[in-house]
Amino acid sequence: MIRRVEAAREAMAAAGVELLAVSPSDDLRYLVGFSPTADERPCALLVGAAGAVFVVPALNAAQSEAALPDLDVVAWTDADGARGAFAAALGRFPPPRRAAVDGTMRADVLLLLQSLLPSAAFVPATAVLGELRLRKDAGEVDALVRAAAAADAAMRAALEACVEGARESDVAGAATAALGAAGAETPFASVASGPNGAFPHHHTGTRVLQRGDLVTVDLGGRVANYWCDLTRMAHVGEPDERDRELHDVVERAVRAALGAARAGATCADVDAAARAVIGDAGYAHAFVHRTGHGLGVSLHEPPWIMAGNAQPLEPGMVFSIEPGLYFPGDRGLRLEEIVVVTDGGCRVLGTLPRDVHVA
Ligand code: ZN
Ligand code: ZN
Repeated sequence: MIRRVEAAREAMAAAGVELLAVSPSDDLRYLVGFSPTADERPCALLVGAAGAVFVVPALNAAQSEAALPDLDVVAWTDADGARGAFAAALGRFPPPRRAAVDGTMRADVLLLLQSLLPSAAFVPATAVLGELRLRKDAGEVDALVRAAAAADAAMRAALEACVEGARESDVAGAATAALGAAGAETPFASVASGPNGAFPHHHTGTRVLQRGDLVTVDLGGRVANYWCDLTRMAHVGEPDERDRELHDVVERAVRAALGAARAGATCADVDAAARAVIGDAGYAHAFVHRTGHGLGVSLHEPPWIMAGNAQPLEPGMVFSIEPGLYFPGDRGLRLEEIVVVTDGGCRVLGTLPRDVHVA
């Protein structure tokens, strides 16, 4: 993990950044494999050309030292306050002209750093970490494959729970329990039945599943620091002709995007491939979001698979392909896979079939 701090230091030099300050966040998780809770006690990993120091509240010091034995940990007590410890830690580095901070740093921590470094220009840490996080190495892909296996197992449990008379919240409960059993932290499940399926980010409620419902199940969680994210469809009772057709359109859009996802293609090319299938079927108006998002230590991160994004795909990039159709007041569908770009094309990380599950 400290290897990544070294890589960040090289990226800092290239980006003209003299100090990198990373508070508890996905960026910190990426750099050192660990992130305490971000709360009112200021905490940050400070990286400069001369080294790195992790400034933590004293009550977290033992945990941080155990998790990061190779890192210099400096603790401050509630009685002394954070300001002096941060001033001393920053004093180890020459005053930076440019300092990079993670995008989710609390405003109070940023204000503290700004008051201690009045002559520094502050820029987002994406200038340093964006490129590193964008391409997953073999170990990261392995972690994402393990996470995808947890999602597959949880989806099987969730689809089994999609029976007539169950509430959306019952299905979500089955999903999050299975995610937890498979080792996922921070599990989530969005279950959208019948007309609720028309809301791409439906908040699972207590609606009771009825015969004839399409049910969208979108679930995920973080397994050993890396996310999974998976969407499948269930149908309560045998689907009629229209629901079969709609599912087929989304399935063909997924396949088109999978076919387009390869090194050298752009993010926009992948989006266009999915969108063309849906447009040809006459449903362009019903596909209301981008085709996908990157995924790693964050659930949503670059690359963004959308129109206008000319970012070329490279081996090691990981993202979702999740076209959907949404008919307000009526129904909705989405299918989602996570893929990694390979030399020859792309590889789906999970193994679960995309057929509609008939309950
Ligand atoms: Zn999802
Ligand atoms: Zn997603």
